[in-house]
Amino acid sequence: MRGKLDFELQLKKIPLQFKTKSDFATAEGNNAAWICICGELLVGRSYFQFGDTCYTKCPNCQRRYRVNPDSKKKAFDVVEF
Ligand SMILES: [Zn+2]
Repeated sequence: MRGKLDFELQLKKIPLQFKTKSDFATAEGNNAAWICICGELLVGRSYFQFGDTCYTKCPNCQRRYRVNPDSKKKAFDVVEF
């Protein structure tokens, strides 16, 4: 048995496409975080269990976003829809 390791997560910038402009979100694995047009900090994910999909709705302004996956189900981009 090995001891427990403490991994530094690898954050990366991914494209964020609002309806009106482009920006960047921060992603780690299946997860992404970004600032809504209204200023609210949001989170989302590119993968949901059993093949279902999911989206994020801003609790402040009701804008909706989807975190799209790449071929490995990791967060690829975030699109307002
Ligand atoms: Zn908002």
